[in-house]
Amino acid sequence: MNHTQISEKLAALPGMSLRVEQITHQVDGCIQCGTCSASCPNLDFMDMTPRRMWRYLLAGRVEKVFASHTFTLCSSCYVCTLRCPRGLPLTDAMAGLKQVAFALKLEPFRRSRLFYDAFMENIRQYGRVREMEMMTRYFLALKHPLIPLGYASMGTRLLKKNKLHPRLPSRGPGKLAHLFEQAHRQED
Ligand code: SF4
Ligand code: SF4
Repeated sequence: MNHTQISEKLAALPGMSLRVEQITHQVDGCIQCGTCSASCPNLDFMDMTPRRMWRYLLAGRVEKVFASHTFTLCSSCYVCTLRCPRGLPLTDAMAGLKQVAFALKLEPFRRSRLFYDAFMENIRQYGRVREMEMMTRYFLALKHPLIPLGYASMGTRLLKKNKLHPRLPSRGPGKLAHLFEQAHRQED
């Protein structure tokens, strides 16, 4: 996806365009020291270092940022935030990028977005994760029968060890629905 295509998608969702501006502002004190990259426990799995990603963001090269999976691999450990010599809120900025990529429904992040949706729906419904139900929701949303097959042996092993407890899904707004609504109101 090139810069024009990303810009068009952002223009169609002004709230997300504003969000990108906010995230850029969050990191505009970056001095490119590389401490965040050197501190990140997930660096080996990233296709671009966090330092480089912040540089692209500050240069307005959003297409480079969203061509990378780096921000989706952030596990919110907060080490970079604690160690950044400029005190920048890097973990929040990473989370912001995930929010934008999911809201824009960018194809490279489809699986991450669907997994996140299934996870959050479980939390809203029960206040905790019911693994079987969450993964069923995820697989149904994927609409790709071969992907669940890849998890079949792990599922069988977990069932044998009595680690999975299939239950009928609950209906209704969910245990934490009021908290979710409050959070949505605060975001608006
Ligand atoms: S640690 Fe902070 S100042 Fe250093 S490169 Fe990362 S974001 Fe920039
Ligand atoms: S908060 Fe995210 S980006 Fe920062 S060090 Fe931890 S995993 Fe890496």
